[in-house]
Amino acid sequence: MPDLFPLINLHKVDAAMVDIKRRHDHMDPGRELIAELQALRQIHAEAKAEADRLAGELKDAELEQKSVEEKIAKIDKQLYGGKVVNPREVETFQREIESLKHHREALDERILELWELVPAAQALEKEHSEHLSHKQAELDAYQNRVVEQRTLLADSYKKLAAQRPDLAKAVDPGLLRQYDAIRQKYGGIGMAEVLDSGACGSCGTTLPRRTVVAVAEDRLEHCESCHRLLFKAVPAV
Ligand SMILES: [Zn+2]
Repeated sequence: MPDLFPLINLHKVDAAMVDIKRRHDHMDPGRELIAELQALRQIHAEAKAEADRLAGELKDAELEQKSVEEKIAKIDKQLYGGKVVNPREVETFQREIESLKHHREALDERILELWELVPAAQALEKEHSEHLSHKQAELDAYQNRVVEQRTLLADSYKKLAAQRPDLAKAVDPGLLRQYDAIRQKYGGIGMAEVLDSGACGSCGTTLPRRTVVAVAEDRLEHCESCHRLLFKAVPAV
């Protein structure tokens, strides 16, 4: 009847290594923050497009306003310069001036509106841009912490891995072979603790009474459900 104690020590190190590896590999890279950032980018891009569109419209309207002013001045000059005397020609020029003034009024109105719309749209774009920067900083900080934690986990893993050969040497060779075979088959965990409730600490199955008794008597038993070698809980000294 081999002594189970060295194997339990080895198992504890192996289980800790499995746990560290799982935590290392499954660390969240910040999925929620990344999704939030993408949504904010979209909102910001839309706000920027709108601000740019309105600013462009204002620039065009101001240029056109200037051009209309120049046309009106030019016709005015021709009309009152004394060169146009034909009444029908005078009427044509006057109609043209009327039409241009009408167009200018519409432009003036829109320009007034745009003088309010453009700064408001630009302020909104700036606000979204700031949200975006904050969220990006939040994600950067989170990801830095993930890198730090991964490094810590990798260090702990290395320390445990370094302890493993000596611990394995202390285990009865036949028992070690059995244990390693189970470990390879069942996710790196070869042993399970029998809980006070009489359940397997690994898979949760309620163990038969005789198995619990046998384990309490230091006999080698397997969990019928998860196949791991069973050991009894050792109270902390
Ligand atoms: Zn089990």
